[in-house]
Amino acid sequence: MLFKEMNLISPLLKAVEKAGYSAPTPIQKETIPHVLNGRDILGCAQTGTGKTAAFALPILQKLATSGENKNNKHVIRALILTPTRELAMQIYENFVIYGKNLPLRTAVIFGGVSQNPQVKALTTGIDILVATPGRLNDLINQGFVNLSSVETFVLDEADRMLDMGFIRDVKKIVPLLPSDKQMLLFSATMPSEVETLALDLLADPVTVKVTPVSSTVDRTEQSVYFVSKSDKTTLLLDLLNNKGISTALVFTRTKYGADQVSRLIEKNGIKTMAIHGNKSQIARQAALDKFKDGRISVLVATDIAARGIDISGLPYVINYNVPEEAESYVHRIGRTGRAGLDGTAITFCCEEELGNWRSVEKLIGKSVPVQTCEWSLTDIKEVAPPSAPIRYYKMPRKSRNRNSGRGGRNRKYV
Ligand code: AMP
Repeated sequence: MLFKEMNLISPLLKAVEKAGYSAPTPIQKETIPHVLNGRDILGCAQTGTGKTAAFALPILQKLATSGENKNNKHVIRALILTPTRELAMQIYENFVIYGKNLPLRTAVIFGGVSQNPQVKALTTGIDILVATPGRLNDLINQGFVNLSSVETFVLDEADRMLDMGFIRDVKKIVPLLPSDKQMLLFSATMPSEVETLALDLLADPVTVKVTPVSSTVDRTEQSVYFVSKSDKTTLLLDLLNNKGISTALVFTRTKYGADQVSRLIEKNGIKTMAIHGNKSQIARQAALDKFKDGRISVLVATDIAARGIDISGLPYVINYNVPEEAESYVHRIGRTGRAGLDGTAITFCCEEELGNWRSVEKLIGKSVPVQTCEWSLTDIKEVAPPSAPIRYYKMPRKSRNRNSGRGGRNRKYV
């Protein structure tokens, strides 16, 4: 099937064609007709499946063709809630790309940056609002947002909203929407809390289900190097300098590790930046933009970038550290091999990480081919991670009394 067989209006078809797509992905094929028909949707799909266009295209079409817009009033008629700033930006950019031939206005609001430009956009009038729940509630409380004209409400990444504790914010927003709105709920997984939420919020929904997490994994060529912790940087530089890997997203376990690896790569003449939770939203977005348009070739990140981020055509993901949670591996490597493209994921595993690596292999249900190099550990054995150093605390003066009865002078206070 092709997009032109999907009853989409020509401004949308032109924009889709300009974006380089001719055939819908499975989630788009299944979702678009139902949304156009006004049905509620319960979508089980992760990012990377083409989910954004699956809701953006029919929403744009409905807003552009239904009567409300005729008198050119810009009131919020579609609301998309998503858990992270990066996802919000991405969804916003998609609406701008697909809607570029339509007289509709989209705005995005999220926390961590000044609210002033966001308030300005809201007060000049918009049709589509993409938002994270916290900032949206803030601006609602300040009287800048009126949701009484919303016709379509999208709750994106519902499972993650729950994980991140945003459901309370979402539940404050829902009663402000008209009761006859159309609602689309998307979630990568369907734990019972999401099912309950769906039952609460959706009216007779159509369920669409595509691409379970594992199929992204299947499309990605994976390998693992067993190396000691101290050889990881040498191996990374060897891959970047000598093995033809010119663009890569590198994941580290800690923020400190991300900075350290990025500094080291930079010292070796490779353009790189680090993103993690200690960087401001502006710095994170700037680094991501530079990576996307090729001004830097390596982006070093903590798991903050593991979910949702869309970097089209990203060829390599390198796990400098094995993630502590096996599921993070799936999300990390899902940054490559997106929308049918091939990708490669390479993992560096040292002895302390072997236990975590076994959990990853168990989750993905296969053993990943082992790559060897001159630094390979030949008989890797699982060792316990180093325990935290024993810390000795000085007792406050008055209790540092030999006769205190708490162990006397030789007691070490751990
Ligand atoms: P999403 O799941 O919305 O994050 O989309 C993942 C990636 O697929 C993005 O880079 C989209 O631009 C791309 N994409 C969306 N629709 C299509 C399509 N029909 N064919 C190929 N790629 C697409």
